[in-house]
Amino acid sequence: MNLSPLLTNSTADDYARTVHAVVDRLAAQVRSCAAPFSGESRDLLERRVASVDLDGAPLGTDAALVEIDTMFVEDAVWFHHPAYAAHLNCPVAIPAVAAEAVLAAVNTSVDTYDQSTVGTYMERHLIRWTAGRIGFDGGAGVFTSGGTQSNLHALFLAREHALAVHGSGILAGAERSSLQERMLVLATEHSHFSVQKSALLLGLGEDAVICVPTDSDGRMDPSGLRLTLDVIERTGRIPMAVVATAGTTDRGCIDPLGAVADACERSVTWLHVDAAYGGGLLVSPTRRHLLDGIERAASVTIDFHKSFFQPVSSSAIIVRNPADLARTGWHADYLNPDDADEPNQVDTSLQTTRRFDALKLWTTLRALGADRVGAMFDRVLDLTAAVHRIVEEDPDLHLLARTDLSTVLFRYQPDDMADAEADRLVPVIRAAMLASGRALLAKTVVRGRPCLKLTLLNPDTTVHDVRGVLAIAKTTGATHARPGHALATTVVTR
Ligand SMILES: *Cc1c(COP(=O)(O)O)cnc(C)c1O
Repeated sequence: MNLSPLLTNSTADDYARTVHAVVDRLAAQVRSCAAPFSGESRDLLERRVASVDLDGAPLGTDAALVEIDTMFVEDAVWFHHPAYAAHLNCPVAIPAVAAEAVLAAVNTSVDTYDQSTVGTYMERHLIRWTAGRIGFDGGAGVFTSGGTQSNLHALFLAREHALAVHGSGILAGAERSSLQERMLVLATEHSHFSVQKSALLLGLGEDAVICVPTDSDGRMDPSGLRLTLDVIERTGRIPMAVVATAGTTDRGCIDPLGAVADACERSVTWLHVDAAYGGGLLVSPTRRHLLDGIERAASVTIDFHKSFFQPVSSSAIIVRNPADLARTGWHADYLNPDDADEPNQVDTSLQTTRRFDALKLWTTLRALGADRVGAMFDRVLDLTAAVHRIVEEDPDLHLLARTDLSTVLFRYQPDDMADAEADRLVPVIRAAMLASGRALLAKTVVRGRPCLKLTLLNPDTTVHDVRGVLAIAKTTGATHARPGHALATTVVTR
């Protein structure tokens, strides 16, 4: 008999056997994982994938799952490895990974109540909890696929709000477009690129995003913001939203939220706080005050898949005033008619079918408690402070700027190395480290200078581990430096 490949009453045993086997193999892989990446070449990976004929004879479930090991798992990037420090990816909490298995199997879609029943209330409970942490009593919100989507959603709400405030009731096409063309979004040059992308998607003008001046560390300058808002009002443009960032992607800088909120209140402008990265501070036992003022925003983005140790995807947009969220509502007779008396999450989301990602955070909070999660983020921040000191004291490394959260911006530049040579080495070091797979870091540009970037998000990583990553960066730099700069670099094993 050919067993159905679908998960049903009659295949539950097969499901359990299959998934147990996958989990056991994966556990073995993680146990023996020696580096964040195998270092396999791009060319080989591309050819290996292209050689698979998706119309070929089927392998059967077990063989297809075993094939995943050699096709994918062995050459995946392991964010949990202590030598992984490239981007804002975290190791994942075990209760959340287990919950992910549950939500994938049950396959709940949190759109209408009749598809998600109790899940609806669990998501709403978590949203209220997050709103409470922000200081939005009675706030509302919805889970999204990530910070990019949360920012788009927030700016959509801000646009609808501005149209309601500046328009004359129900807006016809021409009035709507002419108002939209006058709208401006104020951010800084360090805001996430999804702000620009959202402005474009929302049909604002090409020049719609204005960069407000920053201080020398990259934080929004509130007096510059006030001046910009004044100029905008005098020229007849509409300040649709100010986007403050609580943890910029490169420098982890937190804009002065209280002073920014003052300026927004004075000009009645929607304040969105992008706390995709810094959101973890909401549960920090020692650093919650860094987010003071966030409670004065109209909307907030939080990425649980960054500083709350959740598997991708897990993010939320939270609004202070639930009525604002209603602007997302759209009704279909077959799904969520206008007169529905059931709590339909689809009314508040840009998505329709939507994963029950909330279950992962729910399980994490129930298993570990919020304080433990916050303490884990604190450990990352303490580690980063220690790494800043190490880099500052290292004669071969140059710290470019201090950061507020968990990034480290530096260059490989021994004393006698010219700036141009250090510039040239930045992408060379990054690429050579990726090719070796032994340690992964990123590169960016700070104050016009290229530099290497560590993003630390693993509370179990030690100072010793990071010294190892820095040692690899130095050896790699020394190896690729032009003659005259090939200084012997000692590998520190303290
Ligand atoms: C990561 C990040 C985003 C984008 O979030 P995704 O989950 O990657 O879509 C937005 N803003 C900031 C400040 C971020 O760090």
